[in-house]
Amino acid sequence: MGKPLSSKPDNSYGLMIVYHRRVTREVTIGGVPMGGAQPVRVQTMTTTNTLDVAASVAQCLRVAAAGADYVRLTTQGLREVEALAKIKQQLRAAGCAIPLIADVHFTPNVAMAAAAVADKVRINPGNFGHTQEEAGEQLEKLIAVCRAHDTVLRIGVNHGSLAQRMTERYGDSPQGMLESAMEFLRICRKHDFNEVVVSMKASNTRVMTEAYRLLAKAMDDEKMDYPLHLGVTEAGDGDDGRLKSAVGIGTLLAQGLGDTVRVSLTEAPEHEIPVAKALVQIAPEYPYALCCEKIPALVRHYDVPAREELLLRMACDAGPLLLDGCAGDFTFTANVGGKPLDKAQADELALALLQATRVRFTKPEYIACPGCGRTLYDLQPVLAAVKAATASLKGLKIAVMGCIVNGPGEMADADYGYVGAGPGLVTLYKGKTPVKKNIPQQQAVEELVALITSDR
Ligand code: SF4
Repeated sequence: MGKPLSSKPDNSYGLMIVYHRRVTREVTIGGVPMGGAQPVRVQTMTTTNTLDVAASVAQCLRVAAAGADYVRLTTQGLREVEALAKIKQQLRAAGCAIPLIADVHFTPNVAMAAAAVADKVRINPGNFGHTQEEAGEQLEKLIAVCRAHDTVLRIGVNHGSLAQRMTERYGDSPQGMLESAMEFLRICRKHDFNEVVVSMKASNTRVMTEAYRLLAKAMDDEKMDYPLHLGVTEAGDGDDGRLKSAVGIGTLLAQGLGDTVRVSLTEAPEHEIPVAKALVQIAPEYPYALCCEKIPALVRHYDVPAREELLLRMACDAGPLLLDGCAGDFTFTANVGGKPLDKAQADELALALLQATRVRFTKPEYIACPGCGRTLYDLQPVLAAVKAATASLKGLKIAVMGCIVNGPGEMADADYGYVGAGPGLVTLYKGKTPVKKNIPQQQAVEELVALITSDR
């Protein structure tokens, strides 16, 4: 932990508030540094098919114009690596210098090819090599390519896709995520390769915050100072997506953890950037509170110019206290743009925050991927249709995932899943089991509701 930047008591609830920013090393991705004393960087991921070079270039230009510091593209095979090279060339020719990150799953050879093209490569230890020995050997080869090309590496652990050897030993837990990250980080350090960033994403905000905190402590204990990339996966869209992301990311930022953030929304990637930028500004205004006694019911008032800022302030202010069990309930009043917020809306948002912090569940929990180059259908209208058809099913977790390659692994502990299986085709899951395979998309929402109803 670094030097406290601010420390003030919040007399209203007797909380002692201390803010430190964790000291990390600086790494430079395509000329844009992060970590150290750099500002917290914001990034997003394209939703285009990476093979569609023109569409991907156009989307990268839009997110760069929106202020993204980096952009990530799904890079599942060698053809996508070739497309990535063309995308990079066309962006540079257009005068756009945004660094490109290749998102690779499953294939170490693709990661090595991508490391020669992209500014940074993200790998997932959960699906990089089948055995510990194989993963170690492949990582060593990848490090050599990264070193030769000045490419940064992200060790991107995901709660939903831990390696079997980790879940067998540690369960599907933050501890399993920690061991997964540390195994790869130790190999990087053994080879004195330090151009490394690390992430510990989950869709459950409590799992996510615990995993990052465990990692920060373990890295401190082993004298590692790799920067952290923060994100909540499959957060969904609209108010709920913003609240979930802001609670997880905001809690950690307020604690001084985090060097780059991705607010993952099931919306156009350029929508993520203003939310991420505002979050990075707002979170340190609510430094992490150490509570001595639990506050039974937190009551707040917010005066904000716009509704989106209200969501972020609620999440950064009340979110950490609810998430960490320091407060048991939450209500608020607000003036938005000078007008009082209607009580019904305020109550609805307070319940949404209680659900995002996993204090109280009053509606179904939706786990929806943001979409990427692998997405097999138009996610936004499908998510809206699923939400409309299942709104009364309180207590259920329903996943809406764009592809069958990563979707089933990443929908974590969802009770039911709607997963893209092929063009125009959907497979429905009950827990981790596919129960209706390859049904036409036109009837998939109806079939999902029928499946849920038949079980109730
Ligand atoms: S589940 Fe599939 S489509 Fe959705 S973001 Fe992950 S890889 Fe992309």
